[in-house]
Amino acid sequence: MITAKTLKLSLKSLKDFAKKRLPDETLIQLDERDECPLEIVRHMCDPDKLGIQLLFIPEEFGGMGGGAFDVYCVCEEMARIDLGIATAVLATFLGSDPITVGATAEQKKLWLSRIAEEGLLFAYGATEPEAGSDLGNLRTTADRIMQDGRVAGYKINGNKQWISNGGVADVCTVLANTPAGPSWFIVEKGAKGFTHDEPEDKHGIRLSNTAALALNDVYVDADRLIGGVEGQGLNQAQAVFGYTRLMVAAFGLGGGWAALDRAIPYSTKRIQAGAPLSEKQGYTHKLIVPHAARLEAARAYIEETALRIDAGSEGSLNTEGAIAKYMASEAGNAAAEASIQALGGYGYTHEYMVEKISRDVRITTIYEGTSEIMEMTISRDRWQLHLKTRGQHYHDQARVLEALDARHPEVGAGAAALALHALAEVMEKARLGRLTRYQHILLRLGELIAFAECAGSLARRAALMAEGKLEEKTSRRFDAAALAALSRVFAREAALKVAEEGLRWVAGAGGVSAAEMAPFENSLGLPAVHQAQAGLISDMDYVADVLYGRTTKRTVQAA
Ligand SMILES: Cc1cc2nc3c(=O)[nH]c(=O)nc-3n(C[C@H](O)[C@H](O)[C@H](O)COP(=O)(O)OP(=O)(O)OC[C@H]3O[C@@H](n4cnc5c(N)ncnc54)[C@H](O)[C@@H]3O)c2cc1C
Repeated sequence: MITAKTLKLSLKSLKDFAKKRLPDETLIQLDERDECPLEIVRHMCDPDKLGIQLLFIPEEFGGMGGGAFDVYCVCEEMARIDLGIATAVLATFLGSDPITVGATAEQKKLWLSRIAEEGLLFAYGATEPEAGSDLGNLRTTADRIMQDGRVAGYKINGNKQWISNGGVADVCTVLANTPAGPSWFIVEKGAKGFTHDEPEDKHGIRLSNTAALALNDVYVDADRLIGGVEGQGLNQAQAVFGYTRLMVAAFGLGGGWAALDRAIPYSTKRIQAGAPLSEKQGYTHKLIVPHAARLEAARAYIEETALRIDAGSEGSLNTEGAIAKYMASEAGNAAAEASIQALGGYGYTHEYMVEKISRDVRITTIYEGTSEIMEMTISRDRWQLHLKTRGQHYHDQARVLEALDARHPEVGAGAAALALHALAEVMEKARLGRLTRYQHILLRLGELIAFAECAGSLARRAALMAEGKLEEKTSRRFDAAALAALSRVFAREAALKVAEEGLRWVAGAGGVSAAEMAPFENSLGLPAVHQAQAGLISDMDYVADVLYGRTTKRTVQAA
């Protein structure tokens, strides 16, 4: 267990280290040279130095026993520093996950203790040239080597593609097909027949080493089969998705905020047409405010999911991990892209960093499952809930938010409830028209589900803040009034998006006849959703004032 105080101290050491060793000029040079700063990565993982890995290793193996919430906080901070380095450091966490969830007691003791004591760097070898989103298409094989009638070891043959730390890791976990199905193996650097290619020349995260791996008759002893039983590999990979996707979600969040936090101060100094850009509503309300709202909606969802994972009673929460990753990575990308625009010509150059952040954060919608795969995962799971509850799942959630709205009318719960009611109606119409036979409809539903659920989360987070009950470890950047305003901005967007885009896709797939259109529009609550937009501009004004630290000034002026 990590206390809030310890976590705060760890994050502070991380920030201090980055300030000293990774100033902008260094990051820009490394990015231009396409170089992974291995010495820095090792320093961060070294138990006698920063020892970031210690946070994630259970106490019984010499670590600090951090949970999903701690992981999210550290990942966000790492991503704010540099997403390439974050990927290099966190690859050990990802690479050792199959061990954490699936290994035998002896394997856990050996490998997790070695990570804690020696700062071993891991890589996670799942993807192959022909098996990306579809891991079932795995071609790497692990053939049994028999001795005296028992399995003494395995010979592994195959290729892995796009492996983070592939060229620098001390140990790699490798997914390979055994006679009983996909299984994870532990392969150490230097094993005969185990080689890697030159690092990939990538669009972003150029400070992270990404390399293809080749395994030619690589022999491993039987005790390198994680868990000691063949065929468990895909289940083990599934078991950690909730957790690992939350890490990438936090990367998206950190990357997005890193970009906005460069655009915000820039715009206070940049004078155009006689005043700073930060004073111009057409600038802030397009390029800054909506992105802050989406990022905070994603944060709310990440936090709820992390707390549920840490409570430990609900399984792996794969779908929730997918929603968190989808929202945070898409919001992070949009925020970084808008930040380039916010800096104009300067944003388009290397020197001002937002261009680099934008290239870096781009990876978060690709690795650990692409956004499209996230949409599919979300939609399929929630579709089952819709069917199981005879269409009531989201109506029920909406009613809970209506009750919250009665207690806290300021937190946007009413608009979030409108989004959830509309979602239930869209899904029901899709069921009646059997529209999920169209893959596009299925995936678009995934997007609408993510928006509606995140609106609910942000409203709940704002209410917790108002009640002084927010998790101690979390960011206090926004006070209760600011969080409520952010929530109202996002909930309005979610309600409008679900109702209007839902209508668009259902109608577009032939799910509404001319006669049914008016009643369907009514069932979506469109007039109420439109009415809920009232007050949006003044809320955006308020959020902009908060982001620019001028709430007191405005209040004084108003007085
Ligand atoms: C920098 C980097 C680091 C990485 N690190 C690691 C690592 O450490 N370990 C590891 O194992 N892997 C790693 N990956 C691999 C990454 O997880 C995969 O690239 C990713 O899962 C997508 O697989 P793919 O590249 O084969 O794309 P594909 O699966 O071919 O997808 C291409 C496009 O098609 C879409 N698509 C795919 N299937 C469908 C479908 N059924 N329906 C609709 N659309 C679909 C995708 O969303 C995507 O837009 C890394 C990748 C990169 C680029």
